[in-house]
Amino acid sequence: MKRLSILGATGSIGRSTLDVVARFPESFDVVALAGATQVDLLARQIQEFRPEVAVVLNAEKADQLAALLPPDSAVEILWGKAGYCQAAAHSTADTVVSAIVGGAGLMPTLAAIKAKKDVALANKETLVMAGPLVMAAAQAAGVRILPVDSEHSAIFQCLTGGQVDQLILTASGGPFRTWEKSKFPEITRADALNHPTWVMGDKITIDSATLMNKGLEVIEARYLFDVAPEQIKVVVHPQSIVHSMVAYQDGSVLAQMGMPDMRGAIAYALSFPERLPLKLPVPDWAALSALTFEAPDLDRFPCLALAFSACRAGGTLPAVMNAANEAAVADFLTDRIRFIDIPDRICRAMDAHDMTADPDLETILAADAWARAFVSGLPQSG
Ligand code: NAD
Ligand code: MG
Repeated sequence: MKRLSILGATGSIGRSTLDVVARFPESFDVVALAGATQVDLLARQIQEFRPEVAVVLNAEKADQLAALLPPDSAVEILWGKAGYCQAAAHSTADTVVSAIVGGAGLMPTLAAIKAKKDVALANKETLVMAGPLVMAAAQAAGVRILPVDSEHSAIFQCLTGGQVDQLILTASGGPFRTWEKSKFPEITRADALNHPTWVMGDKITIDSATLMNKGLEVIEARYLFDVAPEQIKVVVHPQSIVHSMVAYQDGSVLAQMGMPDMRGAIAYALSFPERLPLKLPVPDWAALSALTFEAPDLDRFPCLALAFSACRAGGTLPAVMNAANEAAVADFLTDRIRFIDIPDRICRAMDAHDMTADPDLETILAADAWARAFVSGLPQSG
């Protein structure tokens, strides 16, 4: 029986996690559920999974949540940054599902590690911002960081021992894989939110459309698996059946395959080293006419090149890139800037940043805040 604290319970990963938990009630107990603003959904999740603690974004949301629960509800309601960290470190939890979106996930994830909880990590931004610190903290605490990101789960499953030559991350290519560059200035919010193979939260869906998601995953892989940036390759695979691969020094390549359904990676992170009988459908091989692979186009998708350069540079640059991306994506989602302004803004922030090598946590958080302010200060169009 694993006792779970689920951060980001109301999001796409959080809901899929609870779906897995509901299928295996004898394997999991939910002790904490954290959301942000969707109190109706969180109230229903509390009624179904009976956690000891629930967390929301602020005091107002806490009052709203309390009003939705029956008077005899035993759940303790917390709020804000301190509340997320308390839920992450909750005494009866042994595993924390880190599925808050964005930089807001970093401190609760660190709190979980420091409280000696294993972490099922969906929040890739944590490792992009502070990979060396987070991995060192996990080692010092003797806890596991188990990947939920499907590519990293695939690589984790393919690391069977032996000398690794390359990690090969697959990318769907997103909705604009086949679009002419001349059409990119007209891309709308609705176009960008229309992902061809995966259903996810808005921020990661935009990241998938710019290929920044793959860039974030390159940096995530660098720290999670402790490989050099040169050992990480990206290949576009539109069918999203091969979830990623490991090439060994003897020339052998192992791939992990399955249907694009995050419950597979979530269940593996929660049950490792076992596999739950989740019974997701396996690909219908005869019906799949082809699995195809192509090189990513860094000209149309400059975010991937920016991420590779941040990965090579290290220090505070990945945190600046991540924060600039978050600010730019938020501006795109509220129709303040165009799709093609996203990489432009990230590039400007990275160029203007005075980088610190081997930063401590305070320096990383300062770089993150600087980048958000820098991007917010740029004029609205272009
Ligand atoms: P989502 O937008 O669907 O959900 C985000 C969750 O975080 C919600 O529960 C929301 O309430 C909470 N949240 C938002 N802002 C918050 C804040 N400031 N403080 C605390 N909580 C906050 O996002 P998602 O698609 O579930 O993605 C979550 C994370 O998992 C991201 O880091 C994403 O990159 C990663 N991930 C997602 C997928 C996927 O398939 N959705 C796949 C791989 C990795
Ligand atoms: Mg992924």
